[in-house]
Amino acid sequence: MKLHAIGRSDKGRIRPHNEDAHLVEPGHGLFAVADGMGGHAAGEVASRLAIEAVRDMLSTGADGGGDEGVDALLRRAIQEANRRIAETIRNKPEYYGMGTTLVIGLVEQDRLWIAHVGDSRAYLLRDGSMKLLTSDHSLVNELVRLGILSREKAASDPRRNVVTRALGSGASVVPDVSQEVLLPGDVLLLCSDGLNTMVPDPAIESALASGGQDLEATSAALVDAANEAGGEDNVTVVLVGPAAQDDEAAARESSSSGSSATPGP
Ligand code: CA
Repeated sequence: MKLHAIGRSDKGRIRPHNEDAHLVEPGHGLFAVADGMGGHAAGEVASRLAIEAVRDMLSTGADGGGDEGVDALLRRAIQEANRRIAETIRNKPEYYGMGTTLVIGLVEQDRLWIAHVGDSRAYLLRDGSMKLLTSDHSLVNELVRLGILSREKAASDPRRNVVTRALGSGASVVPDVSQEVLLPGDVLLLCSDGLNTMVPDPAIESALASGGQDLEATSAALVDAANEAGGEDNVTVVLVGPAAQDDEAAARESSSSGSSATPGP
């Protein structure tokens, strides 16, 4: 399946640095977003280490290892990212406390695999309606699931940045891994929370739906919307669209621009 893809990242209007990183490799069906945390630029280091580990471990593709093989491969890649961050912290005490979220989208034929740790998200738009594919590993989401906090109140809760799982915070990390069937015309969105805490889901959905397969324009519209809503956080979006069969020229064009996207600035 041919894929269009684009990644776009912006530091927003408040933060001095961009601690997000991302990966766009349509040729390998590999996409990721990481949202680093930790003072003194350590967040940038953690997110970059995670993205590099994903590239090193997964850009050779899943090699037809079957469903179990892909699941195991994603988990190994995330453990390796965690290991590299922990090792860097051991060697450089100034990085103590750094960590990162990570969401990976891996496309194999018509299958989409999603693996995530933390509160970076994956959404899928199909036939004009958007579905959240991930469940945040965050304090407010735990409280919502327990019925202690309403989803409406969670959106403005001051604790909404508290993640309950991240890379770099322990000897091992447990990701959630899931899979979907990917259809021509679908649009996959991976994003850092700087998008979904600034822009409500219905507005994200309508930007995806009205943008169609013009991923470049849609990515700009989403980042602009986050900034217009206050831009309180770094914002990163990766958009992936399986090209229709009569659309192969467009796929080639945007694949080449997608491949040149760097893992964060
Ligand atoms: Ca963030």
